[in-house]
Amino acid sequence: MNKRVLVIGLDCAEPSLVFDKWADQLPHLSGLRKEGIWGRLESTIPPITIPAWASMMTGKLPGTLGIYGFRNRKDYSYDGLSFATSLMLREKPVWDYLKDKKSIVIGFPPSYPPKPINGELITCFLTPGVDSNFTYPEDLKGEILGRFGEYLFDVRNFRTNDKMWLRDEIFKLGKQRMEVAKYMMETRDWDFFFVVEMGVDRLHHGFWKFFDKEHRKYEPGNPFEDTGIEYYKMIDSYIGELIDVAGDDTMIMVVSDHGAKRMEGGIVINRFLMDEGYLRLKSHPEGIYKLKDAEIDWENTTAWAEGGYYSRVFINVKGREPNGRVLEEDYEKVRNELIEKIEGIPDHNGNPMNTRAYRPEDIYPEVKGIPPDLIVIFGDLYWRAVGSLGFESIYTFENDTGPDDANHAQHGIFILSPHEKNGERKGLHITDVAGTLFDVYGIEPEGKFMGKSVIREVENEQE
Ligand SMILES: [Zn+2]
Repeated sequence: MNKRVLVIGLDCAEPSLVFDKWADQLPHLSGLRKEGIWGRLESTIPPITIPAWASMMTGKLPGTLGIYGFRNRKDYSYDGLSFATSLMLREKPVWDYLKDKKSIVIGFPPSYPPKPINGELITCFLTPGVDSNFTYPEDLKGEILGRFGEYLFDVRNFRTNDKMWLRDEIFKLGKQRMEVAKYMMETRDWDFFFVVEMGVDRLHHGFWKFFDKEHRKYEPGNPFEDTGIEYYKMIDSYIGELIDVAGDDTMIMVVSDHGAKRMEGGIVINRFLMDEGYLRLKSHPEGIYKLKDAEIDWENTTAWAEGGYYSRVFINVKGREPNGRVLEEDYEKVRNELIEKIEGIPDHNGNPMNTRAYRPEDIYPEVKGIPPDLIVIFGDLYWRAVGSLGFESIYTFENDTGPDDANHAQHGIFILSPHEKNGERKGLHITDVAGTLFDVYGIEPEGKFMGKSVIREVENEQE
């Protein structure tokens, strides 16, 4: 078995597009599949960039990581949430085990601020900007800026109606990321190479309604009808170049941290909590407003929530939160009642919507840090959670953080190539990426490791 591995991470790459709808137009991705093991890759709950990539590369679930989203509670105060950084990631990713091998890591979230690595690292899309120290070693930064000009971490304002601008920015981001990866592959010795490309995610959020005929806002013949496939084709062509540079002795993996699907609308979760008497405000600002800009009557508030692709619901517990009111002995009763009510919310037409509200301890083998009391996935991810208030009802079809037509989907993509026992595989989980890499490199993982080796499973099966 060869021990050099190239992992190409496409944030949000969607299996129904890569394996089905556009497969004929993506020769390199389809070629890798033909000669390899592939399938839909089940993401973490929640299926969000952070913690999903971290789970993929550590083999640990979000509860073990103590990272439940982009932003996490740092204590039980009402001060809101703090953004995830590399410093919060205490479990070892694959490259931290590869002490005698050289690793190159580009764009892994969360990797800012950069941590030392046996090799080189460029930080992720959560990097404040090119003025910050975004590489390890530090002097790699000068080389990258000298060669590529301004380094693009992300398209910052991707929730915009200026679609011409957005399209150009996403293409620029993807092109540069792949060029940087190619340059690093060509100019360095490496045993493990991992690059994460964010453009696919931004493309989905910005352009989904233009190419998905089932989207409620789809308009036939719109000027961005082909933007989606054009972007995937560009990435596919770069994948072809990276495979060539990597050479025949390299195992190639192409993976995504989650998929994407059309967004039907949003549930104004805090409005629901208010209507049901769980959340009380002392004053209501005008128009649409954020919960943090309202004066909350904490003494009379039982629960409040954060919005996003999923919702986090927090219970105001006496002795835990500063002005907690739910007694410890009533906690489970209140939580069960919330689960029942939230899961029972019908859609705007009165139909059941298949919402799930999870207790963290039910979905993770251990729960570290400060988890939400409930993790809510609305309408099988066809609906997002809207944290703002001031809407007419609990249903909204405009996103409170700007135009966004896609939500995340629970499954991303997995391709491992080449492998002689090629073909589609079911039941793949995001932690299996680490499981497979650890197997390839002969690593014994530490702690609550969840991943299994896909290669070992395939090879152990009877013909
Ligand atoms: Zn993502």
